Amino acid sequence: MTDTQALKERVDCRILIATELGDPVQRSGSAWQWRCPFHADGRTPSLTAWQDGWKCFGCGAHGDAIAWVMKRRNLTFLEAVQALGGADPLPTRPQVTRSTPLRVREPPSADWRQDALGAVETLHLHLLGPEGERAREYLHRRGITDEDIRLWKLGYIPADRLARWGDVEVKLPRGIAIPALVGGVPWYVKVRRPTGGPKYIQAKGGRSALFGHDLLQGKADLLLCEGEFDAILMRRIVGDVLDVATFGSASESDIRLWLPVLVQYPSLLLGFDNDAAGERARQWWYERTRRAHGLLVPTGKDWTEAWLKLGDEGLREYVLENIGARDGQG
Ligand SMILES: [Zn+2]
Repeated sequence: MTDTQALKERVDCRILIATELGDPVQRSGSAWQWRCPFHADGRTPSLTAWQDGWKCFGCGAHGDAIAWVMKRRNLTFLEAVQALGGADPLPTRPQVTRSTPLRVREPPSADWRQDALGAVETLHLHLLGPEGERAREYLHRRGITDEDIRLWKLGYIPADRLARWGDVEVKLPRGIAIPALVGGVPWYVKVRRPTGGPKYIQAKGGRSALFGHDLLQGKADLLLCEGEFDAILMRRIVGDVLDVATFGSASESDIRLWLPVLVQYPSLLLGFDNDAAGERARQWWYERTRRAHGLLVPTGKDWTEAWLKLGDEGLREYVLENIGARDGQG
């Protein structure tokens, strides 16, 4: 018999279901609700999920994470366990440092996200309008096109401002707004300031998330970059052959929230910066999964610097060659 306790503790049913059905229709407490995909559900969502299980109060279907995958994808028990990354607990570092309890992070409140979404739409129009011209030129110089600006809903804050998103007072400095959209709504909004430090500020009330989530296409490789602009650039350059995302500075517990997404990739390409922090991040992943492979930035500190030297064609060629070389090694 397969002991699946570790798997069940690792996989949050709510996130697993949200990655397939999108943002929940409603939440009450820690329970998330959707319209049930297993029967013709009415206007009121019947499917409820918790961390450790789910149940439809319409058709009675219910179970744990494994049961969900079996039913949705028509898999056997063992296939479903495999699809969820196997029964083993994730290997942990051999030397035990102070362990912190893993908290399940939930997305920001519905009010926060709704207000943030409204702001993102407005800021996006600012960037595309005359007041955003210099910011657009800055992005173009980093290899980010107007098409990318539309695809990623980038925005521009023309002047420092205060906003209220849900019950959170949010300071938005002048700069380029970078929203992390999950199911079409922001989980966080980062601002790249043109001058002064720190260069990047995250709007208060957001949560770490897998930046690029909504643009994942189920390719075999997922390229993980370090910064958002790098991810946007690389998706334009090689997005037809692999998926691209970044966790930014997410903590371990934040990253674990996205395991149901990550386990669907046979290969994770680690494209972190060419520096000590990037190397530590690569080691972190190597210690946790055999599916991680390094994809080193060919020149300069990060993908944007490499692009400045190699251009679209050179950078694309480099990535394609290196994916090929890895496959060849078996
Ligand atoms: Zn149902």
